[in-house]
Amino acid sequence: MRASLFTAALAAAAISGCRSTPPEGVALVGATLIDGSGRAPTRDAVVVVRGGKIVAAGPRADIEIPPKLRQVDLAGRWIIPGLIDAHAHVARWSLPRYLAWGVTTVRDVHGTLDSVIKLRHELSIGSIAGPRMFIAGAMIDGVPATYPDAIAAATPAIARKGIDRLVSLGVDYAKVYTRVDPAMLRATLDEAKTFRLKVTGHLGLTDAVTAAELGLSADEHMSGVPEATDTGLARALSAEHRRGFFPGWTAFERSWAGLDSAALARVARALARYRVVVVPTLVLHETFSLLDDPMTLGDTMLAVVPSAQRDSWNVAGMVQRAGWGPDEFAAFRRARPKQDQFLRLFRAAGGMIAAGTDAANQLLIPGYSEHEEMALLTAAGLTPAEALAAATSNGARLLGADSLGRIRAGAVADLVVLRRDPLKDIHNTRSIESVMSRGRLMQADSIRASW
Ligand SMILES: [Zn+2]
Repeated sequence: MRASLFTAALAAAAISGCRSTPPEGVALVGATLIDGSGRAPTRDAVVVVRGGKIVAAGPRADIEIPPKLRQVDLAGRWIIPGLIDAHAHVARWSLPRYLAWGVTTVRDVHGTLDSVIKLRHELSIGSIAGPRMFIAGAMIDGVPATYPDAIAAATPAIARKGIDRLVSLGVDYAKVYTRVDPAMLRATLDEAKTFRLKVTGHLGLTDAVTAAELGLSADEHMSGVPEATDTGLARALSAEHRRGFFPGWTAFERSWAGLDSAALARVARALARYRVVVVPTLVLHETFSLLDDPMTLGDTMLAVVPSAQRDSWNVAGMVQRAGWGPDEFAAFRRARPKQDQFLRLFRAAGGMIAAGTDAANQLLIPGYSEHEEMALLTAAGLTPAEALAAATSNGARLLGADSLGRIRAGAVADLVVLRRDPLKDIHNTRSIESVMSRGRLMQADSIRASW
């Protein structure tokens, strides 16, 4: 009986030409909405989602909820935009972790070219679940390249060819690494410009202000900042960067504590003036500065990382390779307040900061580390609202994707439902009840149950 009525209804719909497949989307009703714009939150808000997009968002009084919509009561909850990890190295095992922690977009900044492209494709066609993925593909480095899967450029001409190849494969931006010197960076940026391709950098042989003058769009890890404060220091650090990745990183971190505040302010103003987005990855600096602390290695949160992955991190082996002992760790810890000071200076100069983590490098948990980054940004002096913007709208600006990072009509339906107010305490971003990715609302618990 019911079947025949249903069939009749379908037939009637076919005849009249109208579609009748309810419910046509979802309305999230009654939460406090933090829309990512930096404006004051909207209490008792409605967010209407259809076909993977937000079609309306605002105070309940202003929004008419269309009929046939499934309504979800979120009274007493908070809604924030889906988070963006602006510095990631995405692995397949990390995908559900990102979603469970509300990270709905990742900016991958280096991986093995073929596999990164394949992963982005599978995610974008929906054959696997996970965050939206934007990719640099393989980074461009000097010779010998630090990583075997980077594009090793012995000459500026080879760097140009590297950009051409990356563009033909459809990357979203490019990244240069520590052994790219100013001449090679100039050629790389010139070639990228003809394709309107943005280039970011983990700098070593080029200081941050020189890179900004040449047209670098973003700076990873605040790299090249100490080098930009003093030419003598730049020469000394260049020698270490040429020796290898770990000597370069160690000397770079060591240099922070001794930096002159006025020089640091000058660099901050210059980077802000050139509109370089800084992705400080404080959680990387912080975690690596505490590798000698048993609490770091014994963190119970690490249980969410597959044991094979934890083994392959081989933290003890890395520390040994890097030659880090008590003296180095003490120096890394002394660097942290100065790095925080640089961020305050950069923000005061009008600079834009985006939250990135460098997961899944050693001990950096995909998804979770984004929340650690927001807390560290707040500890550095940002307000919770600014830290949230760093993880949402600023990340979207960095990616040049205006449909991300905001909750407003026309944006993609990526958002996070929280049980507690993140503006009161940034640690409340971890109180995740559910996550909407591409219009699909999922309970955080059920995502966790899937791994
Ligand atoms: Zn990285």
